[in-house]
Amino acid sequence: MTTDTKTNLFDLDCKGMETFFLALGSKAFHGRNVFKWIHKHGITDFDAMTDISKRLREQLHQVAELSLPQLIFEQPALDGTRKWVIELTDGQRIETVYIPEDGRSTICVSSQVGCALDCSFCSTAQQGFNRNLTVSEIIGQVWIATRELGTSPSNIVMMGMGEPLANFDAVVAAMNIMQDDLAYMVSKYRVTISTSGIVPALKKLRELSDVSLAVSLHAPDNALRDQLVPINQKYPLEELIPACREFVQGDKRRKVTWEYVMLDGVNDSLQHAKALIRLLEGTPSKVNLIPFNPFPGTQYQVSPAERVEAFRMRLKRSGIIATTRKTRGEDIDAACGQLVGKVKDRSRRDLRRSEAESLKVNIR
Ligand code: SAH
Repeated sequence: MTTDTKTNLFDLDCKGMETFFLALGSKAFHGRNVFKWIHKHGITDFDAMTDISKRLREQLHQVAELSLPQLIFEQPALDGTRKWVIELTDGQRIETVYIPEDGRSTICVSSQVGCALDCSFCSTAQQGFNRNLTVSEIIGQVWIATRELGTSPSNIVMMGMGEPLANFDAVVAAMNIMQDDLAYMVSKYRVTISTSGIVPALKKLRELSDVSLAVSLHAPDNALRDQLVPINQKYPLEELIPACREFVQGDKRRKVTWEYVMLDGVNDSLQHAKALIRLLEGTPSKVNLIPFNPFPGTQYQVSPAERVEAFRMRLKRSGIIATTRKTRGEDIDAACGQLVGKVKDRSRRDLRRSEAESLKVNIR
């Protein structure tokens, strides 16, 4: 966030930092140095940057600031997952989740305060949308995680609150910083963006950023997906699937990860599995089945474990890599679709709700 007079340097990726320092009449490499101080070393005080001259530091105090969101509290779950509740300068709160696994540490990063997409099975959707996060608020979550863990995470997934492709520029800049050797050095194969499928943004992303792609599919046909993920009415499967296929083309190591939440009696039959197999034919794919995480007021129920396993085996038999996502951090509401934060100005939600209401159909 930039105040009237000062630029928050946490809003800039490395290129932006070089440009900023050149505009000050300084050198690009000083920009790279400051970038490294704040992200790699975690320093947020210009005067602690020992290789920056006193004159330049004084100039920086005049025109720049180093402002981050604040970690308010940490909630540990029984399984080692931790939820970090983070407060933004306007008092709203977002949530970031840390998920340790053998040999890996994954953090799940939020991109918006709330979400505007209204997927019918997601509790983030219930609390509406307030605003996009800035670059500093997105990368600030990684900065906080790195300080808390004492090291950069090995994996970052843009799977927290919000639709990352609806906050395109800030998310792309933050993902650049995640991968930068002078910052967090997370491999391009280990930064994953998860989207509900905003097709034009996906095409643009392919030109600007090389990251892993996860797509919230949840249904094998338009009729059902229109109800579960309403953005499908705008960007239906016949546009989404080819765009995803193109996204991974040209890199044999890449596959699209399809996220598929298992909803009892809604999308979890063997017929659905077969339709899914047909839909994904010709696209390098992995399917990640997500057991539904219920929340108060939801109309959906959890698929029985045997049905999830039968679905997974059916996909596997046809040669599709299929895994079932282990639900983590349930006891602290940190699991998929359970992140809610604290969103101000719910009027925006009501407005969006009334639009969405007209689209709702009974799917049972
Ligand atoms: N907006 C992005 C990022 C959210 S990622 C997207 O749609 O991809 C979080 C994943 O959890 C998505 O696949 C989302 O559809 C899924 N999810 C949402 N609510 C859920 C719930 N209650 N139970 C299980 N998974 C859920």
